[in-house]
Amino acid sequence: SHWERLVSKSTRRNSASNKIVLVTGSAGFVGSHVALALKRRGDGVLGIDNFNRYYDVNLKHARQKLLERAGIFVVEGDINDGTLLKKLFDVVPFTHVMHLAAQAGVRYAMQNPNSYVHSNLAGFTVLLEACKSANPQPAIVWASSSSVYGLNSKVPFSEKDRTDQPASLYAATKKAGEGIAHTYNHIYGLSITALRFFTVYGPWGRPDMAYFFFTKDILKGKQITVFESPDGGSVARDFTYIDDVVKGCLGALDTAKKSTGSGGKKKGSAQFRVFNLGNTSPVPVSKLVAILEKLLKVNAKKRVLPMPRNGDVKFTHANISLAQREFGYKPTIDLETGLRKFVKWYLEFYSSGSIKKGSSSW
Ligand code: NAD
Repeated sequence: SHWERLVSKSTRRNSASNKIVLVTGSAGFVGSHVALALKRRGDGVLGIDNFNRYYDVNLKHARQKLLERAGIFVVEGDINDGTLLKKLFDVVPFTHVMHLAAQAGVRYAMQNPNSYVHSNLAGFTVLLEACKSANPQPAIVWASSSSVYGLNSKVPFSEKDRTDQPASLYAATKKAGEGIAHTYNHIYGLSITALRFFTVYGPWGRPDMAYFFFTKDILKGKQITVFESPDGGSVARDFTYIDDVVKGCLGALDTAKKSTGSGGKKKGSAQFRVFNLGNTSPVPVSKLVAILEKLLKVNAKKRVLPMPRNGDVKFTHANISLAQREFGYKPTIDLETGLRKFVKWYLEFYSSGSIKKGSSSW
């Protein structure tokens, strides 16, 4: 069928590559960047995304268009659709799954708690079931989150630190996801790597994140709200540039061992790994705003309020020595350099009107 031709063309790989990767959430921010990077180096890549309306779906379609231009087909579907996943695994011998589909963001849980359960718990389990039944069984690299460290105040965060105090439903589903992943490794021999991302930002980023809507509001002359910790200290994030995160994802993928399958002698011996992927350089949100003012050449109208208890934590800071040791992870882009690239993209993307016209100007 036409569909099968698109799938098999998209998953064709260079003779030098031995990888065929299913990228879930490929119309998302991180997923689109990772899919392009894999394709660029010659791996076979297929995307899947449900194009949900959590944020501007036009932006997702614009990313999809980029992927299509690079020869990557994005299947429009939900990871909760086990029949669809089975069909994909029947058609394509995926060696890896890069699982980046999720309900992200912490505040949305107050309006739609079920979306977190749907994508991050139920959907993840359906995907793992499909991986378990697939032949060959793919190795899985999956995005957890720095939010699992929750109210732990010991910084920098190391992978062995406590993760038993989630501050949001989002964090709770990521923490539970690590548990679910561990059981599929333990019982079924799936090779699974969890990557705890720290506030990823950059071109094609997510409109629900502060650096993005601050940019939008500052340019519009609209007042922005900067939250301070109730105890007076600054709220800070370990902002990590998208290209650094993509390198970390590829490093994790390339060092992932094969799944060993269940039943055999090797049962349970497949890998289960957890890595922080951060920048190791937390920046106060007030500094983020100052950098944006400088880059946009506009003084922001801001008000400072104490941080409400809405799921955000005060501080994030990654210890990345484990990822450094395992696959040479080494972030190189500082916040000002990365934001300059974001702002350039933002101005081009939103001034060209390219989304509406569907032109190729980006
Ligand atoms: P994103 O929202 O841009 O991308 C996620 C994509 O998954 C979206 O395009 C969405 O439509 C899709 N999706 C959601 N539920 C789905 C489902 N049930 N079936 C199919 N597709 C579905 O988010 P992102 O920033 O690219 O995040 C990627 C991953 O990294 C997520 O797991 C997120 O939780 C994690 N993460 C991101 C950050 C960050 O700062 N961006 C930080 C920590 C963790």
